[in-house]
Amino acid sequence: MQFASRLDNVETSAIRELFKLLGKPGIISFAGGFPDSAMFDVEGLKEASQKALAEEPGGALQYGATEGYEPLRSQLSSFMKTKGVDVDPSGLIVTTGSQQALDLLGKTMISPGDKVIVEGPTFLATIQCFRLYGAQLISAPIDANGVKTDELEKLIAEHKPKFVYLIPTFGNPSGAMLSLERRKKVLELAVKYQTLIVEDDPYGDLYFGEAPPPSILALSKDVPGSRELLAHCGSLSKVLSPGLRIGWMIAPAELLAKATMCKQFSDAHTSTFSQATAAQYLKSGRMPATLAHVREVYGQRAQAMGAALKRELGDAVSFTQPQGGLFFWARLTGANGKLADANELAKRAIEKLVAFVPGAPFFAEKPDVATLRLSFATADVAKIEEGVKRLGQAL
Ligand code: PMP
Repeated sequence: MQFASRLDNVETSAIRELFKLLGKPGIISFAGGFPDSAMFDVEGLKEASQKALAEEPGGALQYGATEGYEPLRSQLSSFMKTKGVDVDPSGLIVTTGSQQALDLLGKTMISPGDKVIVEGPTFLATIQCFRLYGAQLISAPIDANGVKTDELEKLIAEHKPKFVYLIPTFGNPSGAMLSLERRKKVLELAVKYQTLIVEDDPYGDLYFGEAPPPSILALSKDVPGSRELLAHCGSLSKVLSPGLRIGWMIAPAELLAKATMCKQFSDAHTSTFSQATAAQYLKSGRMPATLAHVREVYGQRAQAMGAALKRELGDAVSFTQPQGGLFFWARLTGANGKLADANELAKRAIEKLVAFVPGAPFFAEKPDVATLRLSFATADVAKIEEGVKRLGQAL
């Protein structure tokens, strides 16, 4: 069959091949990017969906506005206010997961050959999505404090990208948290070079100890002229439920209008039933307790994984303990002649019945084959300890 040429730029992900092996009986998986199903507030969502049907069946079951269901836009506006962001309900659109917001950004902003700067490493689906629109991706290096803003400035000056895509808080896969100082620097760069910054923030609420610095969007109120250069994507997936498919985008009016037009042709609107349920949930006041619960449980798992990695793998692996999110980003050091190729380790690990994702596919340029991503979200503490022990044996 003769497919559209835009598909020439995109390969199916190598990771998908690995996922086929995850059905093996007895396997402990650190590979997925899923939250733990056991963490979903089923009672709260049951109540919220029943209320949605009882109170406004027309709104919950009928076609709706492409921009989103008004009561949900209003609840999301209040939710953002708790995170230091003033946004009118009309200043955000509801999207079908934040994934759709990324797709809409690709559709509205990227012409074939346009340059987009991403972090190296970054979210795999973003790499694939932006490439589908013909973007030439340029990778900005990161460290434990997120993207290196000095390097980022050089790349912006050299390439004049269409936009810069960042996951500043507990990135996928990096787990890194962009420091306050660097967040401010990113805003300065946006204004200095008049460059659009896309802040993807599905993990910002998932912190284990102290709250992370405010989002780049929240900080923009102190940097004149920067707000008009920011698009911010949020999501209920990691803290409440990915199956609801509720995300949102806050962006300048002109960009929101174009994105809304594209969304209209794509899915007309996000499921009104999901939106009405999410609106009722946020209104119910259960969210703070839900957030406290997920932070506590994932925090314990992250702690357990960090300790187990130190104990079982020692200096064969280097990593920074994540302060939030769902992932450890680690690097095989090759110390004492141990393996330094994560692809090879992944194969051996599957034989020992433990799975993780090699890091190479998360790089848009120059993959680092020694890196790997380990999710601590879906295995409990005992499984994490056993899984990391098996990883040590595989190494
Ligand atoms: N951005 C990042 C960085 C992610 O990790 C994910 C989910 N894995 C998404 C966006 C998309 O999430 P959703 O569409 O469920 O909101």
